[in-house]
Amino acid sequence: NNCKKEEILKKAKELEVEFIHLQFTDIMGVMKNVSITIEQLEKALNNEIMFDGSSIDGFVRIEESDMYLRPDLSTFVVLPWSSHPKEARLICDIYKSDETPFDGCPRNVLKKVLKEAADLGYILNVGPECEFFLFHTDEKGEPSLDTHDNAGYFDLAPVDLGGNARKDMTVVLKQMGYEIEASHHEVAPGQHEIDFKYADALATADNIMTFKMVVRIIAQRHGLHATFMPKPKFGINGSGMHINMSLASLDGKNAFYDEDGYLKLSQTAYNFLGGVVKHAKGFAAVTNPTVNSYKRLVPGYEAPVLIAWSASNRSPLIRIPAKRGNSTRIELRNPDPSANPYLALAAILKSGLDGIKNNIDPPEPVISNVYHMDELEMKEKGIESLPSNLYEAVQALSKDAVVKEALGKHVSEKFVDAALYEWYEYSKYISEWELDRYLRKF
Ligand code: ADP
Ligand code: MG
Ligand code: MG
Ligand code: MG
Ligand code: MG
Repeated sequence: NNCKKEEILKKAKELEVEFIHLQFTDIMGVMKNVSITIEQLEKALNNEIMFDGSSIDGFVRIEESDMYLRPDLSTFVVLPWSSHPKEARLICDIYKSDETPFDGCPRNVLKKVLKEAADLGYILNVGPECEFFLFHTDEKGEPSLDTHDNAGYFDLAPVDLGGNARKDMTVVLKQMGYEIEASHHEVAPGQHEIDFKYADALATADNIMTFKMVVRIIAQRHGLHATFMPKPKFGINGSGMHINMSLASLDGKNAFYDEDGYLKLSQTAYNFLGGVVKHAKGFAAVTNPTVNSYKRLVPGYEAPVLIAWSASNRSPLIRIPAKRGNSTRIELRNPDPSANPYLALAAILKSGLDGIKNNIDPPEPVISNVYHMDELEMKEKGIESLPSNLYEAVQALSKDAVVKEALGKHVSEKFVDAALYEWYEYSKYISEWELDRYLRKF
C-alpha cells in the first residue's frame, strides 16, 4: 500500500487540500469525524491517529478507550463543496491499541460477514434506493414540515426549491465518483429519491453514509432541511431504502441467475431468499431501528407488512424485479434510511448465507396483492407479519442467533440496550393522538 499512500499525499498536495476528515460510523448509524490538518496526513495514512473511544456512544468503557483510526485508502475523496481551504475525507476502520479490529466498529462487523461470503465463493452486490424529504426551514433555521411542493411520483418539478436542490446533489455526487442511475420526485409532496449504481456491499455501505451527508449539506445550502426519518408525516408515504442485492461468484458471474431455473433463478437465489425470509423478523430491528420506522411499515403506503415474496407484485417484503442475466436481483423493501447500512447489510447477508449453508427453501411466492389478504388466508399460507413496533423487533432480534452472530456480541448487546432504552423513553411519552382521543372522552 506504500504506492497508494504516496499517491494520496501527492494528490492532496496538488489539489491544495488543507483539512482531512477521518470518518467512521457509530453503532447507531451516525457518522463521526476526527479532522486533521494536511501536516498530519502522513501520520494518518500510517494508522497512527488515535482517538478516545469512550466519548463515542456505545463504544467502550473508559479503561479501554484508546482507539486507532485506519483509513481505507480507496475512500480518499475531495469534498466538492469545500472552497478554500480544500477539504478531503477518508473513511476509517477502528482498531484497538493491540492492532486488532475493534468489534464495536460497524465497518469491521460488515467486513467479517463479507469474508464469510467470500470463503463460500461469493461477493455481495448491493444497490440501495434512498428516499428522503426536503422540508423548508423557518426564520430561525429550524426544520418545519412544509414542502411548498405538490408534485408527485416522477413529476417534472415546476421548478421548485426541492427540484433544484436535487439537481445539485446529483452534480456533487457525480463529482465524488458516484454513477447516478436515476433521480426523481417520489410519491409524497417533498419526497425525493436518488439512485446510484450498485457496488460491492462495503462500497455501498460507505456510499450510503456519504450520500446522506451530501444530501443534508446540499439541502442546507438551498435553505432546506433534508431528513431520512422514515415517516415524518402521518397520512402520506414514508421514506424507505429498498435494498437490491445479488451474489456474484468470484469470477464475476451473477449467481442468482439460472437460465433453466424456475423464474430463471438459481438454487442459490432461492436459498438466499429462504434465509432472508426466515430471519426477516430477527433483522428488522437492524434494518428498521427507530420507533418511527414501524409507523412506515403499515398497510396502504407502499411499505411492506407481510413476510412474503413475489415476482410480480410490489406489496410484499421481497420483490424479484423482472430483469435477468447480470441484473438478476432480489429487492428487499422493508429497510429504511435510518438504518446503519453496515450493520443492516451484515445482518441481511448473514441471513442469506444461512439459507445457502442450510439449504433453506423459501415459501411459495404470493401472486395477489397481499394487502388484500385476510387473516385466515394468511394463516393458511403460513404468512407472518414483520414486527409491529421496535419492542417486538428487539425481542425477535434477541431470539435470532444468526442475526446476533452477524452483529457480534459487542454490537448486538449495545444495540439491544440502546433500542430498548429508546422504546421505554417513547412509551412514557404522551402523544397528541392520545390527548385528542381521550382527554374529552374520559
Ligand atoms: P425500482 O425499480 O425498485 O424503483 P431502481 O431502478 O430505483 O429500482 O433501483 C434499482 C437498484 O438496483 C439500483 O441501485 C441498481 O444499480 C441496482 N442493481 C441493478 N442490478 C443489480 C444487481 N445485479 N445486483 C444488485 N443491485 C443491482
Ligand atoms: Mg426506485
Ligand atoms: Mg426504477
Ligand atoms: Mg422509491
Ligand atoms: Mg424499489
